[in-house]
Amino acid sequence: AVTPGNKRFGLAWVELSTGDFYAMDVVPERLADELARVGAAECLLPESYLQQLPEELRRCLPRTLSGRPDWNFDPNTTKPTLLQQFRVLTLNGFGFDDDQPCLIAAGAVVLYLQETLKSSLGHLKRLQPFRSDAVLTLDEVTRRSLELTRTLRENAREGSLLSLLDRTVTPMGARFLHDAILTPLAQRPAIEARLDAVEELLQDLALRDDLRQILTGVFDLQRLTARISTGRATPRDLASVARTLRSLPKLKARLSARRSALLQQLEQQLDLCADLREALDAALEDDPPLQPKEGGVIRPGYDPQLDEYRALMRDGKNWIASYQAKEITRTNIPSLKVGFNSVFGYYIEITNVHTAKVPPDYIRKQTLKNAERYITPELKEYEEKILTAEQNASKLEVELFTRLRDGIAAQTHRLQRTAEVLAQIDFLAALAELAASRQYVRPQLVDAPILEIREGRHPVLEQLLPPGTFVPNDVILTPEVGQLWLITGPNMSGKSTFIRQVALLTLMAHMGSFVPARQAKVGITDRIFTRVGASDELNRGQSTFMLEMTEAANILNNATPRSLVILDEIGRGTSTYDGVSLAWAITEHLHDIIQARTLFATHYHELAQLAETLPRLRNCNVAVKELADDVLFLHKITPGSATKSYGIHVARLAGVPTAVLQRAQTILHVLESRHQLPTQPRPEPPISPLSIEGPLPVMAGPASAPIPHRKRPTPELIEPPERPRRKKERGSDSPGLFGAIDEMTPNRDNSPH
Ligand code: ADP
Ligand code: MG
Repeated sequence: AVTPGNKRFGLAWVELSTGDFYAMDVVPERLADELARVGAAECLLPESYLQQLPEELRRCLPRTLSGRPDWNFDPNTTKPTLLQQFRVLTLNGFGFDDDQPCLIAAGAVVLYLQETLKSSLGHLKRLQPFRSDAVLTLDEVTRRSLELTRTLRENAREGSLLSLLDRTVTPMGARFLHDAILTPLAQRPAIEARLDAVEELLQDLALRDDLRQILTGVFDLQRLTARISTGRATPRDLASVARTLRSLPKLKARLSARRSALLQQLEQQLDLCADLREALDAALEDDPPLQPKEGGVIRPGYDPQLDEYRALMRDGKNWIASYQAKEITRTNIPSLKVGFNSVFGYYIEITNVHTAKVPPDYIRKQTLKNAERYITPELKEYEEKILTAEQNASKLEVELFTRLRDGIAAQTHRLQRTAEVLAQIDFLAALAELAASRQYVRPQLVDAPILEIREGRHPVLEQLLPPGTFVPNDVILTPEVGQLWLITGPNMSGKSTFIRQVALLTLMAHMGSFVPARQAKVGITDRIFTRVGASDELNRGQSTFMLEMTEAANILNNATPRSLVILDEIGRGTSTYDGVSLAWAITEHLHDIIQARTLFATHYHELAQLAETLPRLRNCNVAVKELADDVLFLHKITPGSATKSYGIHVARLAGVPTAVLQRAQTILHVLESRHQLPTQPRPEPPISPLSIEGPLPVMAGPASAPIPHRKRPTPELIEPPERPRRKKERGSDSPGLFGAIDEMTPNRDNSPH
C-alpha cells in the first residue's frame, strides 16, 4: 500500500506466504526505486488519490491497483487496526514512531487482508521497519539489464545470474538467494558477517556437506507455516512439518561451536520446536491422507473415543463378513455377496440364476440386469451401527486434526523464525558450494570508494562457455589511477561483457558472496546504475532513444560518489553527431560532478580525446588482432583507445557484397578526413544541478537530503582554473596498470585517423 504524504510517502508491503511485513517512509524522489525493489503484485491506494494519480507515479506502480475507501487510510482507523493485529499498545517497540505515514499504509494492508482473506492473519506477527540505507539500491532498469533474476531476451530464469549462482537445496534457501541478489547489503559489518560464514563453510567441506544433506530432507517450512496459520494446511502438510522438525536437532548439533559469528547466531536462533514436534508425532499417522475427512489421519492410541469408534467400525465390518458366509451356507447360493453403495447402504446381491433359492425374509430393494439386490432387518441394524461409528470417527478425526492445527497455528512465529534460519543456512552453504566449485575468492571490502578486481570473470558467461575459454580481465578504479574508464572497441569485442561483469562482481560482493576473480577489493557501494544500449535490448521495441535518455537522466540525477555507474553505449539511437555530443557531455558530467566509479563502453572512439581534459578518465580498449582477412577478438581489456570501428570488416564477415564494402570504405575515408570533434578545451561547465536548492519535482529530481555520502563538489573541483593538457592517453602512460598484457594491443600505436 502507498499513502501519499506531504514530504514523505508511506509504503508498506507484505509477503503473505512468509508473513514478512515491512513499512518505510520514502521521500518522493526515492519512491520509484523502492517500489521497484519491492516488486509488488498488487498495490492499494486511497480511492480519491487513485483518481488523480500522477502519471509518473503510475508508471512505477504494479499493474494491479486497488482503490480502497479513504477511511481505510485514516490514522483513526489504521492505528487501532495495527495495535489490535499485533496486540501491542504502541509500535515504538517495532522501531516506528506512531505517526509515521507508512503505518497508515500498513494499517490499510491489514484491513484489506482481513476483508479479502476472511481467515486468520495469525502469521503476521510483526511489522518491521525497512531501512533502505542498509541495502544497495538497484533500480528496475539495472536489475533487468544485469539479468539478475530473468534474462532480457527470453524473460526466463534460466540463464540469469540467479540461475547460475543457485546451489541451494531448499525452496526457502532459493527464495533467500533471490532476495539477496535483488537487495544486496550496503553495510560492511553485515556483509563481512556473511562472508565469514561462507568462508567457514567453504573451508569445512564435511560440515557443508552434512548441512546440505540434512537440508535436502526438509520441506518448505515457510509455505507450510503460512498454510497452517491461514487454516489451509492439510494433514499431509502437518506431517511435513513434523518431518522437518525431526531433522532439526541434527542440524543444530552440526552448527554448534562454529567460528563465524553469523553461524553461531543462527545456531542460537534455531528453535527446535520440540514441543510442537512431540504434539505432531503423537497425533499424526506417518503417512496421512490429503484431506482430514478421508480418515486415517490420527494415530491409534491418541484419543480413546476415536479408538472406540474405530473398534466399532472394525467389529461391524467383521460381522458383515461373517454374515455373508452364514447366508451363503443358509441359502446354498455360493455367489451370494454383501455389498455397499451410498444410496442403499448394505445389501445382499443374488444373480438371477439363483432367484428361486432366495429366502422369504429377504426384502427386494433393486433390480439389475442379471441380479437382484435385497436387504434384511438384521443387515440394516448393523449398517446403522457401522455408519454411525464411521460418521462419529470421521467427525472426531476432523475435530482432532483442527485442534492440532490450531495449536500449531498459535506457534507459527516460532516455526517462521526457524524457517528463516534454515533459509539462511541453505543460502550460506550454497554460496560456499558455489565458491568451491567455481574457484571464487573472498572479496575484500573497504570503505574507500574504489574497485580493484584482478582477473575477474563474468559469472554467467564463464559457466556457459567451454572451460578455459573465458578471458579474465582486470579493473582498477581509484581516484589515483582513474575513476572513469572509457572502453572503446568494435562490436562483438567484449565491451558489454566486461562492464557487466564488473557490476555483477560488485553486486555479488555486496550480497556476501565470493566472486569469480583472482583478487577483488570492493569499496562499499550505495547504488549500481546500468544503462544498456538500444540494440542490446531488442525485446522492448519502444522509442528507444527517449528511453535511453530517461535512463541517463536518472543516473545523472541520482548517482553519488559511492555509486557504480555502468554505461553501455550512450547516444546510439540518434544521429552520430547528436550521439557523440551527448555522450561527450554526459561523460564530462559524470567525471567532474558526480565522480562515481564509472565504466562507459562505447563504439564512439572519438570520445577517447576526453582523456586530454579529464584527469581521472582512462581510455581502454578491447584487444583485436587483425589477420590477413579476418579480425580476431581477444576479449582482453587493454589501456589506450581503439582507433577503428571495424564495422566494414564485420560487414564483410557477414557477407555484404564487395562493391558495397568498397564504396563504404571510400565514404569512410572522406568522412574521417572531414569531421573534427572538439579538441579545444570545453567551456565552463554549467552550474551543477546539485547546487540547485528548493523543492524538487516528484521522482525526477536528484536525491537530496537522505543520501549521506554525497559530496557537493566545490566549483574549483568542477573546473580547475588552468587544467593542464594531458598527453594523449596511451598504454605506456600507466605501465604498472596492465603490465605484460600491453603488447597484446595491436593498434595502440597507430595514429587515430
Ligand atoms: P560488445 O559489447 O563489444 O559488442 P559483447 O560483450 O557483447 O561485445 O561480447 C560479444 C561476445 O564475445 C560475447 O557474446 C561472448 O561470447 C564473447 N566474449 C566477450 N567477452 C569475453 C571474454 N572475456 N572471454 C570470452 N569470450 C568473450
Ligand atoms: Mg555491446
